[in-house]
Amino acid sequence: MKFGTKAIHAGVAPDPSTGAIMTPIYQTSTYVQRSPGDHQGYEYSRTHNPTRTALQDNLAALENGKYGICFSSGLGAIDAVVKLFSPGDEIISTNDLYGGTYRLFTKVFERYGIKFHFVPMGDPESIADYINENTKMIWVETPTNPMMNIIDIAGVAKVAKAHQLILAVDNTFASPYLQNPLDQGADIVMHSVTKYLGGHSDVVMGALVLNDDELASKLVFIQNACGATPGPQDCFLVLRGIKTLHLRMERHSQNGKTIAAYLKNHPKVAKVYWPGFEDHPNHDIAKKQMRDFGGMISFTLVGNKLEDAKTVMENFKLFALAESLGGVESLCGHPASMTHASIPKEEREKVGLVDSLIRLSVGVEDAEDLKQDLANALSKI
Ligand SMILES: *Cc1c(COP(=O)(O)O)cnc(C)c1O
Repeated sequence: MKFGTKAIHAGVAPDPSTGAIMTPIYQTSTYVQRSPGDHQGYEYSRTHNPTRTALQDNLAALENGKYGICFSSGLGAIDAVVKLFSPGDEIISTNDLYGGTYRLFTKVFERYGIKFHFVPMGDPESIADYINENTKMIWVETPTNPMMNIIDIAGVAKVAKAHQLILAVDNTFASPYLQNPLDQGADIVMHSVTKYLGGHSDVVMGALVLNDDELASKLVFIQNACGATPGPQDCFLVLRGIKTLHLRMERHSQNGKTIAAYLKNHPKVAKVYWPGFEDHPNHDIAKKQMRDFGGMISFTLVGNKLEDAKTVMENFKLFALAESLGGVESLCGHPASMTHASIPKEEREKVGLVDSLIRLSVGVEDAEDLKQDLANALSKI
């Protein structure tokens, strides 16, 4: 099946008890057994729930994987992956990383004796310098948040394979429509389902997709043993959101292209970060591993003043100032004070995350209206 067909049909079937075409919300914590141990595959909803099963199977199909495993948030999913490891193990990660992931790694798991290296991954070969006998995993995010750098997944996979390391890719920014890391050699793909997969800013959820049987059984064990599972209502909402994922992503990408070009020509804009530009430093890799370039854009202002960035964001009427991304409505954010506030200023600025940087999640509204909103807000500085 092609992507749009999978988005609508994979993992779901008419409900056997009534023929309901939409997977019901199985709002139940437990399941009656005929005799001790004699049940229909469902015992307790932390372990299994039919609405969740449908979503997990759908997500697996979208990422060309065998197993989908859902969690109550994206960070819950990342937490489960790190719990595969033990004190003394080392993980190599992107230096330009989602702030919450950085916080989880450094503020929680470093206390448990796991060591993290945050390194530039522009040249995959250079990662080898950080690998030693304790290294267990490489954690990649691409495109990166908020600098929109692109990391060569196949290139990093080669390094990971050569050293027998697990390669995990946070695919939140791309969504499975734009990019399928397992096809590029990754072992685990992670999503903050909260973003494009849910797509309507009404659910917080996370997911992992993978092919390896042994790794999957360990992660399913952690899902149940640690218990960060999503409820059936949220699973239903995401199943519904995914039915239009391909349509939404096409429009996000179209609007992204229009808005990125508009900003690039604006006299008050200094830099625009969007991987669809031919002069983006990793454009060729983006073209190779992504189907299109999406609607995530970051830009900085001429003069780089925090005050100017504030004025612009206060004057938007359509781009709502809010955390998160990937919903049908356009959002803007200020990484230095919001998502990335937990990263020290010095570290932030090293990767270009300066005070005037504004991140846009371009929604699926009419692009003309979005351009006008930008024109108006930028006219105030
Ligand atoms: C939002 C986000 C996360 C965390 O997901 P939650 O659902 O908020 O827990 C992880 N990675 C990226 C790239 C994100 O944007």
